[in-house]
Amino acid sequence: MSTVSDYFGSMVFDDRVMRSTLSAEVYASLRKTIDEGKELDIGVANAVAEAMKNWAVANGATHFTHWFQPLTGITAEKHDSFISPSPDGSVIMEFSGKELIKGEPDASSFPSGGLRATFEARGYTAWDPTSYAFIKGKTLCIPTAFCSYGGHALDKKTPLLRSMEVLSREALRILRLFGNDTAKRVVSSVGPEQEYFLITKEMYDARPDLRFTGRTLFGAKPPKGQELDDHYFGVIKPGVAAFMEDLNEELWKLGILAKTEHNEVAPAQHELAPIYTTTNVATDHNQLTMEIMQKVAAKHGLVCLLHEKPFAGVNGSGKHNNWSIATDGGQNLLSPGDTPYENAQFLLFLCAVIKAVDDYQDLLRIAVATAGNDHRLGANEAPPAVISIFLGDELNAVLEAIETDTPYKGAEKTQMKLGVDVLPIFNRDTTDRNRTSPFAFTGNKFEFRMLGSSNSIACANIMLNAAVAESLRIYADRLEKAEDFETALHEMIKKTISDHKRIIFNGNGYDDAWIAEATEKRGLLNYRTTADCMPHLMDEKNVRMLTSLGVFTEDELKSRRDIMLENYCKTVVIEANTMISMVHKRIAPAITRFTSDLAAQASVKKGLFPDLACGYETDLVKKLSALTDAIAEKTADLEKAVMGLQDAEDVVSESALIRDAVLPAMCELRIPCDRAELLTAKSYWPFPTYGDILFSVK
Ligand code: ADP
Ligand code: MG
Repeated sequence: MSTVSDYFGSMVFDDRVMRSTLSAEVYASLRKTIDEGKELDIGVANAVAEAMKNWAVANGATHFTHWFQPLTGITAEKHDSFISPSPDGSVIMEFSGKELIKGEPDASSFPSGGLRATFEARGYTAWDPTSYAFIKGKTLCIPTAFCSYGGHALDKKTPLLRSMEVLSREALRILRLFGNDTAKRVVSSVGPEQEYFLITKEMYDARPDLRFTGRTLFGAKPPKGQELDDHYFGVIKPGVAAFMEDLNEELWKLGILAKTEHNEVAPAQHELAPIYTTTNVATDHNQLTMEIMQKVAAKHGLVCLLHEKPFAGVNGSGKHNNWSIATDGGQNLLSPGDTPYENAQFLLFLCAVIKAVDDYQDLLRIAVATAGNDHRLGANEAPPAVISIFLGDELNAVLEAIETDTPYKGAEKTQMKLGVDVLPIFNRDTTDRNRTSPFAFTGNKFEFRMLGSSNSIACANIMLNAAVAESLRIYADRLEKAEDFETALHEMIKKTISDHKRIIFNGNGYDDAWIAEATEKRGLLNYRTTADCMPHLMDEKNVRMLTSLGVFTEDELKSRRDIMLENYCKTVVIEANTMISMVHKRIAPAITRFTSDLAAQASVKKGLFPDLACGYETDLVKKLSALTDAIAEKTADLEKAVMGLQDAEDVVSESALIRDAVLPAMCELRIPCDRAELLTAKSYWPFPTYGDILFSVK
C-alpha cells in the first residue's frame, strides 16, 4: 500500500471487485439490479454473498452488518459473525444470499414516532445494492434500507431512494419532450462540504457542556477570536495536518472522494469537501465521513466537534449541499447549453427548481431544522432562516427579458425570434459568487447552504428532489398535451418567472433590510426556529405533494414531525439541565470561593494596615456577589421553565415552551456567568476558557 491509487477503494466491494470475483452471468445480473432496480433472484444473491464474504474475510473481516440510517440522524449497525459450526468442532465462515438481502434487527429502541407498535418490535433491513458494501474495522457493512413490517420507512434512505426515483421519472418525461430518447435515468448528485472544529481531548474532557451536549453553554468571548480573519485558508497546523492526512487515508480506503481541505473562518474550524457523487452514495459517504472524522480525531488526542454552534460569538459549522441533476449519459441538466434549444431545456429545469424552492420553502427549512442549527441560521454567519435563490446578474437579466418580452442584451448576442428562439443565448456565469444566499446557482449546480454540520444530508435532498419532481410533473402534464410545444414551453417559463420571482434575491442575505423586504413585501416565510417550522410538515399542500409522489406516506410524515420535535425538546432539556448542574456544582462554588478568598485577603491587609482602602478587592467582591445573586435568580428561573414543560399537552406545545421559556432562560443565565468568568481569577475558574479551547491544537 504505497500510493493513493493503490489503496483507494481497497475496503469497498466495488465494481472492480465484483467484476473480478463474480461469474459473467452473476455480474451482469447484479449490474442490472444496481443500474435499473431489477429484482435479484436468490441464486444470484447467494453467489454475490459468497463472493462478498470471501473478499471480506480475505481483507480481515469476521463480522457482517446491515448498516442503516434510522431517524436518529446517525447510522446503526448490529454485528453478526460469519462463523458457523462444523460437525468436527471447527467453524466455517458462512454468509448466504438471504442474509445479504434481508436482515431483521430487533430495533424496538429506534425512534419510530408511533409507526411501529412495540408488539411488532422487529423492523427489517433490505439491501440497497446501489451503494457498495464496504469493510469498517473487522466488519463487512452492507448499506440497507430500514422498514417496519407494515412497510413504513423507519429510516432516511428509503424516502431518499424514492425521491431520486420520482425525480428521474418526471425529468425523463421532460427530456422525451425535448427529443431525448436515449436517457434511461436522471440522477441527482451531491457534493457536501463538511465543516467541523478540532479541539484537544484534554479541553473537551474538562467541559461537561461539550461532553453532554456537544457545545459550550458558557464561555466569555476570548480577547482574540476570528476578528483578524487570519485563520481562513491559513497555514494548517502540524497537529491538524496529521489528522487530515490520516483522515484522507481512511476515507480513500472506503472509496470516499475526499478532495479539498482547508481552515475555515473561526479558529480551530476546518472544512472537508469530497468530489460529488449520486445523492444516495453521497449521503452514505457523508455519514461515514462524520463518523470517521471523530474516530481519527480520537487517535490523535483530538475531538472533532460537529455541532452547529459549539462556541457563541464564533462562527458555527454548516454543510453546503451542492446539488445537480444529470442524465445517465452525463448531461448536466442545470448547465446552460450552447444553443437556444439547449438553453430552453436548461431554462425549464432552472424554472422547475425556482418553482420548487418557492412552493416548498417550508420543506427546505424543515429539512435542516434542529436545535443546533437554529443557532446559526440568521446569525450573520450563515444564511437567514428566510429562503431565497441567488441566480447572478446574467441569468437574472435573461429571466427578466423573458418575463417582460423585451430584448435581452446579453454579453454577446441578442436573439429575438418566435418560439423557442425567444430564449436567448447567454454566457455561463460562474464567477459571481454570493456567499450570503441560502440557495445559490453556481454555474451548473445549486448550492443549498442552510444545512447544519451535523445534519444528515438525506432530508434536504429528499425535499429538494421531491419538490423539483413535482414542478417537472406539472410541466410535463401540460407540455405533453400542448398543441404547439414551443409556444407552450415559452409561456410556461414566462409564467413561472412571474409567479415565482419573489424567491429570487441577488443581494446581501445577511442584511436586516432584506428580511423585512422578504417577509413584509414578498411574503416569504421566516421560520426562525425548529418549533416554528416543524408543525408545517403536516400542512395540506406538503402532505399532498409528498404523498402523491409516493415519497412519504402520511403516517411517515407524522412520525417524522414528532421525532424531530421530540429531538428538539430533548436536546434543549439536556442542555438546560447541564447548565443547571454546571452552575450548582462548579460555577457558583468557584465564584464563592474566589470572593471569600478576596474578602479574607482584604481583611488580612486591613488588619495589618488599617489605612488601606482595599478598593480593588472590595469592589470585586461586591461585583461578584451581585453576579452570584443574579446567577442564583436566573438558575431558579431556568429550573422553573424546565419544570413548566410537564404541563405541555403534546410535543408541538412542548416545543413552543422550549422556544419561548427554556431557551430564553438559558440565555439569561449565561450572561451573569460569562461576566463572572471575566472577573474571576483563572486559577479559580473551573473550566478551560474559549481562548484555551480554540487555540488548543498545535
Ligand atoms: P466552493 O467554492 O463552494 O468550495 P467547489 O467548486 O469547490 O465550490 O465545489 C464544492 C462541491 O461541489 C464539491 O464537492 C464538488 O464536487 C461539488 N460539485 C461540483 N460540481 C457539481 C455538480 N455538478 N453537482 C453536484 N455537486 C457538484
Ligand atoms: Mg461552498
